[in-house]
Amino acid sequence: MDLSNIPVLDNHCHFFGLEVPEQPLHRMLTLSLNNMPDDQLRHSMVYRMMLAELSEVLKCSADEQHVLATRRELSQRDYPAYVKLLLDDTLIKGLVVDIGLQKSLVDNTQFETMVARKVWYVFRTETIVDRLWREQVEPGVGLDQFKAEIGNAVRTLPAIALKSIVGYRTGLRIDPSMTVAKASKAGNEASYRNLFFLESARICREMGIPLHVHVAFGESNLDLRENNPLHLKPFLDSPLGREVDLVLIHAGYPFAFEAGYLAAMHPRVYVDISELVPFATFGMKRGVEDVMSMCPWNKIMYGSDGFDIPETHWLGARMGKRVIASILDDLIHAGTIDSVYGEEIARMIFCDNSLALHKNRPQGEESFF
Ligand SMILES: [Zn+2]
Repeated sequence: MDLSNIPVLDNHCHFFGLEVPEQPLHRMLTLSLNNMPDDQLRHSMVYRMMLAELSEVLKCSADEQHVLATRRELSQRDYPAYVKLLLDDTLIKGLVVDIGLQKSLVDNTQFETMVARKVWYVFRTETIVDRLWREQVEPGVGLDQFKAEIGNAVRTLPAIALKSIVGYRTGLRIDPSMTVAKASKAGNEASYRNLFFLESARICREMGIPLHVHVAFGESNLDLRENNPLHLKPFLDSPLGREVDLVLIHAGYPFAFEAGYLAAMHPRVYVDISELVPFATFGMKRGVEDVMSMCPWNKIMYGSDGFDIPETHWLGARMGKRVIASILDDLIHAGTIDSVYGEEIARMIFCDNSLALHKNRPQGEESFF
């Protein structure tokens, strides 16, 4: 299938910088927070995939130095035009930006002007919880502060969802019965963050917005063993867990089947495939197949997890379209679906599912295009 005409709403990404980055391209694609040697980064698949794809859109040879020189020349000549070239190439029409990542300190309004398309925001709860824990604010007092600050942030941004990265901090073993008294008695970080995760879910339920939850691989400060989405099962079975829309960000990868399975078992669980596409490289197709095996297709959302440079947002959309086209072709050849329905599935994954779920978005933005 040819998905080049399918519009893209990037369901999970971050700001990219507003000026030509100074760091070499290979240093901008690593998820490691450690100082990885240049030669290791240059011999990484995601970097080679980026060079190959860039050579096509920049219309130059795939030779590393040639691609880098062409990229430098075009981006330095007119950076906004270069960004537009990338966004238009993949028909990216909108971006849902998680503003929690501090790598790029970017002004919202300037970013919106540069990309010149829809930008919606997600507020990361750890922006507040990290500080409360660091300052050892007593759980009951902390909850009051948290509620006031979140309400304020959601209204002023405005945000269309909350996001939790509790998986990065203490893992996903959420106890749905955690209370202020229990967290105070336990006195440990996991119980403390557990309490605020539940409060975030309550706030989302009240505001009618989804809760995005990091579940998957990620940067080097994450313990993958504690990020299997199956750890969320007790929460999903609790009364609160049944009453909030939960988006499993990054498809739980490498536990992608598990994420899809949870979405197939729970009506209000959804799956976002960002970061799996494009950073899992060879794993992209396997991971998306694992999700699609059981997860209803009107609950899957495309995202890039793009950060710092616009090429990451663009590469995600480009590879996402290729991988999903290949899976849909397989389904058509097998006689499971026809091409008309195949196109409908693609529209759902790349745009419509995210639009339908985030219906509580800024006034006057009912129509997307
Ligand atoms: Zn992210």
